[in-house]
Amino acid sequence: MAYVITDTCTKDGYCIDACPVDCIHPKLEESDFDAVPHLYIDPEQCIDCGACIPVCPTNSIFVLEELPAELAAFAGRNAAYYGH
Ligand code: SF4
Ligand code: SF4
Repeated sequence: MAYVITDTCTKDGYCIDACPVDCIHPKLEESDFDAVPHLYIDPEQCIDCGACIPVCPTNSIFVLEELPAELAAFAGRNAAYYGH
């Protein structure tokens, strides 16, 4: 299982601050921050703690198994950002 960020993400970074394992990128100080459309969760580092969900003001984060069908592509996009 892993968590997935979708395109309603506004890159405010609240989830980055909430994540205990630092698996959400890019951060503001990373060089590609401005270029990406939304943030990404590393599915191999995410420990499925759920801490990012309640802090997201746009409800952009989903548990993989609960990802709506129309947003299914975002699972691959999150993983691909990390080369998985
Ligand atoms: S579920 Fe937990 S470990 Fe995974 S991205 Fe969210 S805060 Fe980080
Ligand atoms: S908290 Fe939500 S809107 Fe903010 S950066 Fe994370 S996923 Fe994007």
